[in-house]
Formats: sequence, C-alpha cells, structure tokens
Amino acid sequence: MEQLPPPPVPLRPDLAPVGSEVPRRRRFPFGVTVVCVLLALSMGAVAIAPLFEGTEEARGPGFLFLDRTDQGTPTRWDPCEPIHYVVNAELAPPGSIEDVHEAVHRMTAATGIAFVYEGTTDEEASISRDVYQFDRYGDRWVPVLIAWTDPDDSDIPFRRGDRVAAGVAVPRIAPTRLEDVYVSGWVAINADDPNPPGFSAPGQQGPVILHELGHLMGLGHVRAAGELMHPSGGGVVDFGPGDREGLRQLGADAGCIKVMEPIGP
Ligand SMILES: [Zn+2]
Repeated sequence: MEQLPPPPVPLRPDLAPVGSEVPRRRRFPFGVTVVCVLLALSMGAVAIAPLFEGTEEARGPGFLFLDRTDQGTPTRWDPCEPIHYVVNAELAPPGSIEDVHEAVHRMTAATGIAFVYEGTTDEEASISRDVYQFDRYGDRWVPVLIAWTDPDDSDIPFRRGDRVAAGVAVPRIAPTRLEDVYVSGWVAINADDPNPPGFSAPGQQGPVILHELGHLMGLGHVRAAGELMHPSGGGVVDFGPGDREGLRQLGADAGCIKVMEPIGP
C-alpha cells in the first residue's frame, strides 16, 4: 500500500479514525487541504481557470494577478470603499465564522481595504450567483458571500478529476464590463472537508479561507514555496512575502477606482 504522509493536524475521529482507510481525497500535499479551484466569471459567461497551468514560475515575484484591465493594470477592487460580506455557516463546524473574521482581518492588514460584516445569510453559493439581487440585498451590488457548501448538493465544481477542492472562490466584475473592477464575489468552502477550524496548521480551515480570499481579491496561483497562493496552500498558515506584495499592489496603495453603480430594477 502506498505510504501516505502524516496529516498536518489530527484528523477528526468521527470522520477518519486513526488506522482507518484513508479516503482517496487525502492523497494530496498537505493531506486534506487546499486543492483549490479557481474560477473566473466575466460577462455572464462561466469559465473555469486551470488549476496549475498559467502559474508563475517558482523564481517569479511570488504573486500573480488573476486578470488585467485593458490598460494592463491588475483588476482589483476599489480600495477606498469597504467590501461587504455575509456568511452562510449552516454547514460549518463551530468556530468557522470566527475564522472568517480573522481571515478578513488579515486581508485588511495586507491590503488596507476595510471589510464590513453584514451577518449571516441563508443564501447558498452558486456558480450562477447574480451580482445584483434586488429582493435580497437591495439596489446595489450583492455583498461577498462566504458559504459552507455541500459538494453533493451544489453546482459548484469542487471536484476536478480525482481532486477535491477545499474551497472555490470567484471575484466578479460588473456584467457590463464598462470598468474592469471587482464589485462582488463569493467563496464556497467545502462543507464535506474535515479540516478543523483555526490557523495554527496548514491543514486547518483558516488558511483555506485566507487562500480563497486571496483569489477574491484578485490573486491567482503561484508555484513559489512558502506562498499561501500556491495551489496547495504552500505549507504555510499565513501570507508569504509574495502574497503580501501582490495584495499590496491590489490594495489601498494603488489608489481609488471609480465603481459604476448597478442600474436599478
Ligand atoms: Zn486556489
């Protein structure tokens, strides 16, 4: 039998008793963690960005932007307005909302962009989530949704071949694409993932959320070791130097951007 590396954190006994057969999905770097899927949506079309292709070389700057504007600048959020977010934690283990808040706190520190928590929601993540939902959120772009999601009851492609993602993130630009600026997005965390809450080990849920928020802000995958935006999480529990430089360039240091308001109902 193939020798498996030890898991980075103790497995939950209810899900994977010691000595039991290790599920196939654990046969990846860092155990169960972070075979993240990255998706990019634009103009209403759904495109699945490749997991490992198109990433930075190992000796690159340690960060890569998801998308660029026609002017060649990285696509980003308006750093002068706070990013609003809601959380659907109905399927999340205890402590998960605290992990979200901690991850958001770290993202604010890295970007200079404020976040506003609007509370919990029963909205479920969906690949076709509209960026404008008047009935639910009023006349504005919808807040970022961070939702624990059952892969068996979702249209989100957590599975790619024999890999299973711990999370999927999508930043969204305005559908009209008159301006290449992110106005919303969502993060789906695999609720079937047995990663425990916390930030103290790479196998825990906190670094997964932080990695997905990196995508939400506009970072893609890099191959450099020690960077959280490595496809498998880089073996770290917080941003690496390349991650931080990329986030700095996406954040307040890059200056304000004009954001078009949605056209009302
Ligand atoms: Zn990823």
